[in-house]
Amino acid sequence: MGNLKKKDPQVYKAILDETKRENDNIELIASENFVSEEVLEAQGSALTNKYAEGYPRARWYNGCRNVDIVEDIAIERAKKLFGAEYVNVQPHSGTQANMAIYFAALKLGDTVMAMSLACGGHLSHGNPHNFSGKFYNIVPYGVNRDTEMLDYDEIARLAAEHKPKMILAGASAYPRAIDFKRFKEIADSVGAYLFVDIAHIAGLVAAGLHQSPVPYSQFVTSTTHKTMRGPRGGFIMCKEEFAKDIDMGIFPGLQGGPLMHVIAAKAVCFKEALTPGFKVYQKQIMKNAKAFSDELSKLGYRIVAGGTDTHLFLVDLSNRNMTGKDAAAVLDKVGITINKNLIPFDTRSPFVTSGIRIGTPAVTTRGMKEAEMRLIARLIDEVISDPSGDKNLKGVSGEVKKLVKKFPLYKNLIRRIEKE
Ligand SMILES: *Cc1c(COP(=O)(O)O)cnc(C)c1O
Repeated sequence: MGNLKKKDPQVYKAILDETKRENDNIELIASENFVSEEVLEAQGSALTNKYAEGYPRARWYNGCRNVDIVEDIAIERAKKLFGAEYVNVQPHSGTQANMAIYFAALKLGDTVMAMSLACGGHLSHGNPHNFSGKFYNIVPYGVNRDTEMLDYDEIARLAAEHKPKMILAGASAYPRAIDFKRFKEIADSVGAYLFVDIAHIAGLVAAGLHQSPVPYSQFVTSTTHKTMRGPRGGFIMCKEEFAKDIDMGIFPGLQGGPLMHVIAAKAVCFKEALTPGFKVYQKQIMKNAKAFSDELSKLGYRIVAGGTDTHLFLVDLSNRNMTGKDAAAVLDKVGITINKNLIPFDTRSPFVTSGIRIGTPAVTTRGMKEAEMRLIARLIDEVISDPSGDKNLKGVSGEVKKLVKKFPLYKNLIRRIEKE
């Protein structure tokens, strides 16, 4: 970044400060992760210059021979990783990938069943302010009040009642495994398409640690930047028969030129995910989430749905006299980053919430294991037990600094940047 440092010191400084912030904090936002330096290099390349509207060997502009190679590689690797018949790697984000599915599968106004936001669904699964909620008749399903888990019999009953054209499975804040085979049976029983959004759990699916929806559903979408540990972006997998509609849906339907530098970074991410080390990494993410939630449970916290089968879990703070909003704010002060989150049947608003969501992908990327998770759980408890004690917060802050120093992130990168 030597050139940037000289020519645009303001932007340079913000980038350097952000890199340091990521290194100096304990990152527990379940949807975030830290990419490899190889992914950073691919994304920071001259490929950002190239217009490549269309698809490999069928572009609107000339000069695409190199970006064609990159896109083909990304597609082939994703197919191999997930055993998918057809892949489109062009969606700029997970939401755009989802949009392409709605447009390919449905007519405006069709009925779609999807997980309610209050129980862990995503904005693009029918929020009234999102295109999905505006363009389609959304019938939400939630979780069982007692188990806080998906209730497949109830979902089947709703499907029989509402006869949706499509059923959407997948979530942003659901800690338990999802039975996609069962979802497929329900969809088949009413003649609906099954569309599964694995934005959060794609890494676990790729590593074979969570049931794959690919054999069971017509459409699967994902992001590449959560458990996949790649660049910010989306991709689509579908059965061959929908390939043309999906491709047309993305371009020219929803997007212009694809971000070829990001597609190069996606290709690198898929290569990393095909290595044996990726499976070890994903396993550790899950072990860490379990150790973390077990420790908090021992400290008297109620874990939503009784635990986790994934990379994330939800903590109900109702019995600790603190809202999710306040917990997130005070933890931020000591360098622990989490997000407030609705819990099922929450009595508070989405801006306040009774819970927090904790995810382990980012800390696992740094090399932290179960012992560190238990330590962080105790630090969180110290903060929540005495949120206004200055001495307490200072003490925890010091512990956070000690811990992140032992697991440096982008250490060589920061050193190189500062030297230039
Ligand atoms: C994160 C997420 C997305 C997409 O997010 P973008 O910010 O649009 O990339 C889609 N679906 C689910 C379930 C998610 O958690």
